Amino acid sequence: MIPRAAAAHTVPSRLRRTRAPRLGRVTDEQGPRPAPVRIRPEIAALPPYRQGKQAGADAFKLSSNENPFDPLPGVVEALRATVAVNRYPDATASRLRHRLATRFGVDPDGVHIGAGSVSILAQLMLAVSGPGDEIVYAWRSFEAYPGLVLIAGATPVEVPLTEDARHDLPAMAAAVTDRTRAVIVCSPNNPTGTAVTHDEFEQFVASVPKDVLIILDEAYAEFVTAPGSVDGMRVLGVSRHPNVVALRTFSKAFGLAGLRVGYAIGDSRILDAARSTSIPLSVTAQAEEAALASLAAESELLERVRHISARRDALAAGLRQAGWRVPDAQGNFVWLPTGADTLAAAAAFEEEGLIVRPFAGEGMRISVGEEESVEKVLRIAASVVQTLPEAHAGRALA
Ligand SMILES: *Cc1c(COP(=O)(O)O)cnc(C)c1O
Repeated sequence: MIPRAAAAHTVPSRLRRTRAPRLGRVTDEQGPRPAPVRIRPEIAALPPYRQGKQAGADAFKLSSNENPFDPLPGVVEALRATVAVNRYPDATASRLRHRLATRFGVDPDGVHIGAGSVSILAQLMLAVSGPGDEIVYAWRSFEAYPGLVLIAGATPVEVPLTEDARHDLPAMAAAVTDRTRAVIVCSPNNPTGTAVTHDEFEQFVASVPKDVLIILDEAYAEFVTAPGSVDGMRVLGVSRHPNVVALRTFSKAFGLAGLRVGYAIGDSRILDAARSTSIPLSVTAQAEEAALASLAAESELLERVRHISARRDALAAGLRQAGWRVPDAQGNFVWLPTGADTLAAAAAFEEEGLIVRPFAGEGMRISVGEEESVEKVLRIAASVVQTLPEAHAGRALA
């Protein structure tokens, strides 16, 4: 492993503060059309959100890391029973908060529920940062990070991943300055799949000033099987670092992506600040009830998660056997470093009815989907790897 030098301020040019702001978004083929009112320049420069492609009837949608299993009957029943939509929901989703507090052995004030953990990320950034402040995270990592930092008015500081697509935590610690207000650690990292170890994380926390918020984004925690990986609940339970907040979600392992419910565990004073910046009443009663029903069926859901993790391991092993260089995969997805050939490779998958998530010039993320999709992914991947030059970074060293 050859860690690259820390490269703070390696924000893509479209995000750099020095860039002359565009007056609006590209809305059609005619090119940029200025908005009718004055938009904050850093907002106008943001690319509009692009969702993973929708799959055709006979295609597999492997582009959004969704859970391929249908909702449990108990979850569907809970939704059917929650019909009083003329009423606002409970503002703090207190039943779910108490249930999670019991589940993880923390105080209920140390749990905060949001409409997806992405919304809690946004709340935390608004709570700790503004113009002139910096937020450090690894890159490439979760697509939402740069936009959320810019929306808060702060400056993103992106630290390149190591050669093996892992967080370079020493470089991230070195990128922290007196302007840094938060650092995001994504483990397993979306989209590369690699996990940070417990020891690495502890060392990292020890090397970051205590007044800097450390967000441990664990959207895929339940899929992790590598021993020694960081576990936010263990970190918070044993080490009790007051500046660490762990984020988890019901979207991935628990299959509630469409309902929008996630949670944060951490110091109640930090979570109070997140509550203050939140949009009130955005966690619906349906989301809360479905999450409670999911926790009631947790062992059944975790059994499904074990199937997905095993499927992931089989997929990664098959890809490596076919000649791909696949980083350690600890989420419900695998990463192919297709580099300059990414768009062509993604098109080859799409032609065969497999919708993947390409990141032009870097690689593609393929979610672990339905059982029948695995063989198909392997078949197409085996032919795509043959189209790559011998020395391509996507190929395993012979
Ligand atoms: C999916 C995901 C989330 C959370 O998604 P929500 O649906 O908003 O809970 C957070 N972080 C990462 C890295 C993700 O991939």
